[in-house]
Amino acid sequence: MSKDDNTKVAIANNFIHNIINDDLEQGTYGEKVVTRFPPEPNGYLHIGHAKSICLNFTTAEKYKGYCNLRYDDTNPAKEDVEYVDSIEEDVKWLGFQWENRLWASDYFDKMYEAAVELIKLGKAYVCSLSADEIRKYRGTLTEPGKESPYRNQSVEENLKLFEEMKEGIYKDGEKVLRAKIDMTSPNMNMRDPVIYRIAHSSHHNTGDKWCIYPMYDFAHPIEDAIEGITHSICTMEFEDHRPLYDWVLDTLGWWNPQPKQIEFARLNLTNTVMSKRYLKAMVDDGTVEGWDDPRMPTIAGLRRRGYTPQAIRDFCERIGVAKANSTVDIGLLEFCVREDLKAKVESRNVVENPIKVVITNYPEGQIEELTIENNREVPELGERKVPFSREIYIDGADFMENPVKKYFRLFPGNEVRLKGAYFITCNEVIKNEDGTIKELHCTYDPQTRSGSGFEGRKVKGTIHFVEASTAVPITVRNYDYLMVDDENGEMVLNENSKNECMAYAEPSIKDAKAGERFQFFRHGYYIADAKLTDNNNKVFNRIVDLKSSFKLPK
Ligand code: ATP
Ligand code: MG
Repeated sequence: MSKDDNTKVAIANNFIHNIINDDLEQGTYGEKVVTRFPPEPNGYLHIGHAKSICLNFTTAEKYKGYCNLRYDDTNPAKEDVEYVDSIEEDVKWLGFQWENRLWASDYFDKMYEAAVELIKLGKAYVCSLSADEIRKYRGTLTEPGKESPYRNQSVEENLKLFEEMKEGIYKDGEKVLRAKIDMTSPNMNMRDPVIYRIAHSSHHNTGDKWCIYPMYDFAHPIEDAIEGITHSICTMEFEDHRPLYDWVLDTLGWWNPQPKQIEFARLNLTNTVMSKRYLKAMVDDGTVEGWDDPRMPTIAGLRRRGYTPQAIRDFCERIGVAKANSTVDIGLLEFCVREDLKAKVESRNVVENPIKVVITNYPEGQIEELTIENNREVPELGERKVPFSREIYIDGADFMENPVKKYFRLFPGNEVRLKGAYFITCNEVIKNEDGTIKELHCTYDPQTRSGSGFEGRKVKGTIHFVEASTAVPITVRNYDYLMVDDENGEMVLNENSKNECMAYAEPSIKDAKAGERFQFFRHGYYIADAKLTDNNNKVFNRIVDLKSSFKLPK
C-alpha cells in the first residue's frame, strides 16, 4: 500500500542559508525570515518550480519564518482560474502551506504612488520616444547609451504627462515612464529602464481601473517590501537586475530594512523541456493529453505518473542550490522515486504480452493457493495468496523459442523456477496456423514447491506467472521520455513516448484503487491511473522501471 505521509527530508546548509545566518547575526531583519514563491498564473507548475518552491518554503521553515504565495499578475495578459487552482493544489500536494496568498495587482495603488514619488524626486520621467528609438538610444554592451530628449523635462511636466497616461489619453506604446538612472552604466538594465507602460487591456483583478501597468523590475521590489519579505530568492537571470531592484528601494527610501534579492541557478533536466510556453503549446496542439499527461514534467503530470511528494522534495534537496548553471540527469529524479517506493509498496504479478503455459502433469481442475511475500525487503508488509493451476500465463519476454546466448529464462528443454511456485520445464511449443505461439506445454516437478526447502538442483532463471482462470486483464502504459536528444544533441519530441499494452494481473489487482502504487514484479513501479481506473477498468502508468544505469555522484 502506498502512503503519502510527508516524511521530512533533511535540509542541508546552502549558500542562501549562509547569507541568512549572517543577517541573523547582524540583526538585519531582527529574528525574521520571510520568503515568497511568486508564480505567474499563466500555466501549470513544473519540476523547475518545485525547486523554487522547496527552496523558499524549506528556508522559511528552517528559520521558523514563513513563505507567502504571491501571484505575479502585473501583466494584464489573460490569467486563468484553472492555473491558479492548479498552482495551489500543487504547492499543497508537495506538502507546503503558505502564510498569505497574495496578488501583486493588489499593490497597484502603492506602485502608482511610488512612481509619482520617483517623478517628484526627479528620478523618473515620461518618455515619448518609440520602443524602437528607446532601443537605439540604449546603446550596446560596448557603447554607452544616449540620453532621451525627454529626460530633462520638468517635474511638473512629468507629473502631468504621467497623470494623462493614467487617464487613458495616450495609446499603447505612445509614452512610457522611465527611471532616470545612468545611460552610460555598464549594466544595460540601469540605462533609464522603463518602469510603467500603457496597456489598454482589462485585468482579471482590477478590471478597467488601470491602463498603465508597472514593469516587473519596478514592481517586484515593491511587492517584496510591502510584504516584509526578507530574502527574495529568484533565478540567476535576475542577477543583472539586482542593482535596479536595490535602486528602486533605495531611491524611494520607504522601507527599512529592505528585502534582499538572492539568485540561484535554475533547474535544467536532461530529457525535459521546462518552459511553460513550450509545455502549453504541446497541450494546445494535442501532442500530450493535457497538462497532467503522465509524461509531462509538470507537478500535475508527475503526480499522475505516480511520483510522490517525498521523492520530489528529496530530489530538490539532493540537487542542492548553487549559482552555476548545470543540467541534472533525470536519472536522479527516477532514483529518488525508486528510493521512496521500494520500502512502501507491495508487489504484484503482472505479465505483459502473455503466453499461455499448460502444465501437462498438473491435475486438471485443481487450484492451489501459494503464499508470496508482498515486499521482500519489508516483512511487515505481509504476504498474500496467489493462485496456481494447470494453466498459467507467463510474460512474453520470458520465453524464447531460439534462445540467444546467456538467456536463462524459458526455452524448449530448459527448466526455470516460477517465483513462489515450482520448477517447470518446457517440452513443446504449440503454434497457431499462422506460425505464432498458441501455448507452451511444460511439466512441473512437485518436489520443488517454493518454501519446501528443496535443494536437489539449481536453475539459473526465475520468472513469474499469473494463473489463467483468475487472471485480470489490465492496461499498462509504459512511458518513455517525452523528449530525446537527436544526433545533433538537440532536444526533440520522442514519437514513441507512450507504449500501451494489454497485460494479465493476479486477481488481487481487482481491489486496486485509483492512485494506488505497486511494484509489478520484475517490471517496475506502477500506479493505478487516477483518471482512468475504476471498478471495471484498470489502467496502470509505469512510474519508473526497477533499475537504471544511473549512479549517484559521490
Ligand atoms: P517558465 O520560464 O517555465 O515559464 P517562469 O520563470 O516564467 O517559468 P514563473 O511563474 O515566473 O515562471 O516562476 C515562478 C518562480 O519559479 C520564479 O521565482 C522562478 O524563478 C522559479 N522558476 C521557474 N522555473 C524554474 C526552474 N527551472 N528552476 C528553478 N526555479 C524556477
Ligand atoms: Mg515568468
